[in-house]
Amino acid sequence: MDEFDLLVVGGGINGTGIAADAAGRGLSVLLCEQKDLGWATSSSSSKLIHGGLRYLEHYEFRLVSHALAEREVLLKNAPHIIRPLRFRLPHRPHLRPAWLIRTGLFLYDHLAKRVSLPPSARVRMHDPSPLLNDVDTCFEYSDGWVDDARLVSLVAQQARDKGAQICPRTRCSAVQRQSDHWLVELTSGTGEKRPVKAKVLVNAAGPWVGRFLQQGVHQQSQNHIRLVQGSHIVVPRIDDQSYAYILQHTDGRIVFVIPYEQHFSLIGTTEVEYQGDPAKVQISAAEVDYLLSVVNSYFKIKIAATDIVHSFSGVRPLLDDNQQQAGKVTRDYRFELSGAKDQPPLLTVFGGKITTYRRLAQAAVNKLGEFLPAMGRPWTAAALLPGGDFTSLAALQSELWQRYPWLDRSVLDRYARQYGTLSHRILQDCQAVEDLGEHFGQGLYRREVDYLCQYEWASTTEDILWRRTKLGLHMNQSQQLQLQRFMDKE
Ligand SMILES: Cc1cc2nc3c(=O)[nH]c(=O)nc-3n(C[C@H](O)[C@H](O)[C@H](O)COP(=O)(O)OP(=O)(O)OC[C@H]3O[C@@H](n4cnc5c(N)ncnc54)[C@H](O)[C@@H]3O)c2cc1C
Repeated sequence: MDEFDLLVVGGGINGTGIAADAAGRGLSVLLCEQKDLGWATSSSSSKLIHGGLRYLEHYEFRLVSHALAEREVLLKNAPHIIRPLRFRLPHRPHLRPAWLIRTGLFLYDHLAKRVSLPPSARVRMHDPSPLLNDVDTCFEYSDGWVDDARLVSLVAQQARDKGAQICPRTRCSAVQRQSDHWLVELTSGTGEKRPVKAKVLVNAAGPWVGRFLQQGVHQQSQNHIRLVQGSHIVVPRIDDQSYAYILQHTDGRIVFVIPYEQHFSLIGTTEVEYQGDPAKVQISAAEVDYLLSVVNSYFKIKIAATDIVHSFSGVRPLLDDNQQQAGKVTRDYRFELSGAKDQPPLLTVFGGKITTYRRLAQAAVNKLGEFLPAMGRPWTAAALLPGGDFTSLAALQSELWQRYPWLDRSVLDRYARQYGTLSHRILQDCQAVEDLGEHFGQGLYRREVDYLCQYEWASTTEDILWRRTKLGLHMNQSQQLQLQRFMDKE
């Protein structure tokens, strides 16, 4: 029976982050994910690497300053999938006075060292402005944008490169605490069972963290998770500039409008208490109406439900801090370490954000030092994620254009943004477009599909179209069917 130092349950951003950190410190690690990597909350986020401007209103200075510092680290470590994004906050004096916004932005500029992003500013709006005429002033500030699902895949690759076993479509179906190790049963998608041993168990099951504790480990916890649904809609681009918008609503909440995949705008999010099965979360008609009405109260262009080309929902696994309103619940994380002195420990992760995953992972593994004393030192702060070893995206793009002049530049640009320098691994030995194999449409060739299956654990059409790439937004139904038929056959 295989034996590991660490077994991580959950292949979202927190589980993969912990697996990568631990493997890089010399520990033997297995990560199991019941479905595809990142399929749950970690691919349904607003895709921001941000300090969280609005958390300042809840006095979360520690969280904001940590997240702002991580923003710099991640912009540097994953420049292909994380990019700076300039936000405009339209000023409506009856919602938040200018002095309050300026104070918040001053703190946002100064709570952590800012190297790569410009400071905030106040700008007068002139015609042609996409915003309604009563908005004559906006406040600008910068944050980061991330392809969240790709981040999970890259962190999983980082873990694998350091020796971790990554097992998607593998559920942790039973655990037993033995005297000096955990006996864990893993069940694959086909029902095959594999028993393994682990010295330490990590519960990074996101929205299922409580269920795993109660039904898997039969353990009561002092901490609780509050499930809060958040939904997004995608519409054809409503503003041709490169700005994102942060819109204040009359209920005190904010809604983002983010440039998305060149031709689209991503609009979200909502905060609705959620009681059901996290796997079945779906956007409601009320959420759609809410998002449309906030956007229509700011923009000259009017959007309707018929404009929506795609939507997605996720469940935030928030650390319950007894706040009444879902929007006020902390976005910070907490660990719970359980097990008596002579028992194998269980570390459970409550809460967290995509932005702080690396920091959370490092702190989680640090916490296990007393049980796994042979582990090495923290290392991820200066570690580039796979494919991130280039100086500028523009330089990488022109390098790709020169080296592969026979391939459409729009495809190469997408490769650069998704795979960074790993684009060369996809294209190696190819001399002409025919070498890329079957074309499914919108620049997706068999060569890329094979790469995603071989190196990024993709196994279904959905994995490829919605998580490893966002080509689902661009490919028509018959192109998607062609891919589906190919995947079924292969
Ligand atoms: C609407 C919304 C917007 C957000 N926006 C942002 C944002 O802009 N920026 C930001 O930083 N954060 C954002 N977040 C927060 C962020 O997405 C989450 O904090 C993060 O994704 C949680 O990751 P996780 O790994 O804990 O959970 P998940 O990604 O849900 O991963 C947990 C995994 O555990 C697996 N699992 C559960 N039980 C088992 C088992 N028994 N065996 C094997 N696997 C199991 C599940 O299948 C799942 O894949 C947002 C969240 C939401 C919902």
